[in-house]
Amino acid sequence: MSSNDLQLEMNFSEKQNRFRKTVEKGEFSLLFESAVQGPQLPAKEVVKQLKNLEDAVCAIDKFSCGVAVIDKGENPEGLSAVEFAAQMSEDLRDRHAVYLSGINRDEKEICRQLAIAENSGNFNIVAVSGDLTTPPGVRTDSGVIFKKIMERKSLFSGVTVNPCQYDPWALMAQYSKLAARIISDAGFFVTQMGWDTLKLQSLSWYLLLRNLYAPGFARLLFLTPERMKQMLEKETPGIIIGRELRKTMENELSLSRKLFDVAQLCRLKRQAAACRVLGFSGIQLCGADQPAVAKECAGVIWEGISSISSFEDFLECYHSEMAESEVNSFHLKFQLFDRVLKRPYPFDNPPQPAELPDPEVKLSEKIALIFSGKDEFSHRRQNVCTAGKCPKHNTLGPCGGVRHDGRCENGTQECVYRKWFRFAAANDAMTGIEKEMI
Ligand code: SF4
Repeated sequence: MSSNDLQLEMNFSEKQNRFRKTVEKGEFSLLFESAVQGPQLPAKEVVKQLKNLEDAVCAIDKFSCGVAVIDKGENPEGLSAVEFAAQMSEDLRDRHAVYLSGINRDEKEICRQLAIAENSGNFNIVAVSGDLTTPPGVRTDSGVIFKKIMERKSLFSGVTVNPCQYDPWALMAQYSKLAARIISDAGFFVTQMGWDTLKLQSLSWYLLLRNLYAPGFARLLFLTPERMKQMLEKETPGIIIGRELRKTMENELSLSRKLFDVAQLCRLKRQAAACRVLGFSGIQLCGADQPAVAKECAGVIWEGISSISSFEDFLECYHSEMAESEVNSFHLKFQLFDRVLKRPYPFDNPPQPAELPDPEVKLSEKIALIFSGKDEFSHRRQNVCTAGKCPKHNTLGPCGGVRHDGRCENGTQECVYRKWFRFAAANDAMTGIEKEMI
């Protein structure tokens, strides 16, 4: 099967978008991630698996559910996530969300992909930068993809944010990017995966205090033992594994498979309830792309949100069962607000935003910046070149792969957006900074 062989089932007559309707009505909904379109499987098998997942999740009656078709890069047969999604059932496509990454795609190709999405009835598109590639090739910034989505009126645009940042400048860069997208009418947002409920509430409070509204999906993870072992060995963006959490995970790994799964379902149940209570519009679940697992997870999410429906219930559960096995960073790392996870809303007696620390711009940095030349991708802000020094050439905000301490996803340099925000703080130029990411 090739891109040209695609039998695009056009649906021009009826352009309903049930996903959009559901989230705009404020109904809690679920997206189940499918990352099956990797290089391992023939395209026909990928389509079969996608349709099996689609049938299973669309049959769940407790919530409105759909598939999040993740863009893992092209299948060797040349099909993208958008093209795979165009093979799903015509009458169900408007319930799904499809990711479109900028990897190996120029703007012309992005426009072609969006035309396919629009014509096939896949209206909900999430713009992402995609992972770093070696060697670096052509790529389009997720901010540019977002703008292209917004040009097509029938599409509903999703954006991403990584709220699990423990460095003030990296955190503010993420919040500001999201603010810029919401100001530009993004339809919904999805958070980077993380195990820190406190960071989810901080993000909710930040948006509430700024009167920014967009339905948000918290991305959660249902773990297998293999995935848990990988997480213990290698850093996962958004998840810091401290001593307590490591102990909990190692204990879970020593259990039988049945008990391991029970532990993961309990974790998911509590996390889902927390997301609902903290004002998220839904959950995007990673790791549950087998139909039976997806159904089981939907069942425990339902139990969680039915049994923990008030902030007080959630707090009790948080302190008795969750806090210990989370990042529990409050006393250790930078938090923007005080008294988070103590009350539901920030309006009465507003929280005091933390003093941003000294941005520590060194003299050597200032001198280096004076002598650094412009280059092809130059976007100089506070004299920081945010495109030429970004391995993904992002010009409209940081990617989600930035590490929790503000280092670039490549691990070898400071994220240039962190540096820009650090310099802006030193020059008292933080006000309205997000306008530069629009
Ligand atoms: S510099 Fe920042 S935005 Fe660019 S790739 Fe690295 S982490 Fe992502």
